[in-house]
Amino acid sequence: MTAEIINGKEIAAKKRLEIAEEVEKLKSKGVTPGLAVILVGNNDASRTYVKNKQKACEELGMNSLLIKMSEDVSEEELLSKIEELNGDPSIHGILVQLPIPKHIDEKRVIESISPLKDVDGFHPINIGRMMTGQNAFLPCTPYGILVLLEESGISIEGKHVVVVGRSNIVGKPVGQLLLNKNATVTYCHSKTKDLTKHTTQADILIAAVGIANFIKAEQVKEGAVVIDVGMNRNEEGKLCGDVAFNEVSEKAGYITPVPKGVGPMTITMLMYNTLKSASESISD
Ligand code: NDP
Repeated sequence: MTAEIINGKEIAAKKRLEIAEEVEKLKSKGVTPGLAVILVGNNDASRTYVKNKQKACEELGMNSLLIKMSEDVSEEELLSKIEELNGDPSIHGILVQLPIPKHIDEKRVIESISPLKDVDGFHPINIGRMMTGQNAFLPCTPYGILVLLEESGISIEGKHVVVVGRSNIVGKPVGQLLLNKNATVTYCHSKTKDLTKHTTQADILIAAVGIANFIKAEQVKEGAVVIDVGMNRNEEGKLCGDVAFNEVSEKAGYITPVPKGVGPMTITMLMYNTLKSASESISD
């Protein structure tokens, strides 16, 4: 079998058009969605991510505000900036680009963002609401994966989903979102014994490990849906996923490539969450 490619770039472009239309409608009611991004320090990757988020805001007609803080900013100063943004009615989404310097308590920072403006979906209140199936900001990468599956016409109910990776931002929440959609979910991680025994059971296999070409064809069931979250650099410095794409695509039914798979969906769902926050700010 040769897998059908799930084109994340195309699906993201379609979603972005829908978001842009909704932004226009909201603007006609006098509200322009606004996203504030706080960047602490000079991490190159973070700077690129932040730039891409600002560009997406511009393209979709949203306002973006970039707040740059120096590497040695105090925790109090950062918290006080977040407090100010929590109270600013022109800002509907607040995001602190991670990682932040070690001297600042990441948990405290995340918890200081108003859950009503937590468009990353990292606040414990949003995580709890997601767990219990209530209205919440869903974390962007897991949400993007859900949309990729739905837009590709892949049914989730009753499917066995195996997630390799259990981080708070990808692995855990993606399993939870698919459980909410009636999948049967297995989580694997670095302490899992006989990983292949589990991955070969997957109707939908999600790789969120952070190791280049980690999942091989022998670990995948014939015809499975394979979602590759990984963003790694190989020996030549080329962007590659957690899945050995060439061999796995010969066996899988569907597969996401890297790049142009999950990646473009993450920022798209961030834009969606900012729009949602702005819409809810006038419907309350
Ligand atoms: P983390 O490093 O936080 O988590 C990696 C997970 O993989 C951990 O749960 C770890 O297990 C597990 N793991 C590590 N080694 C093994 C192994 N040998 N066997 C089984 N499981 C293993 O990574 P993230 O979740 O943040 O990111 C995962 C990947 O996704 C990265 O490549 C990252 O760059 C990418 N990413 C892509 C995004 C996108 O927009 N496309 C967004 C976010 C991330 P344990 O918990 O036991 O340590």
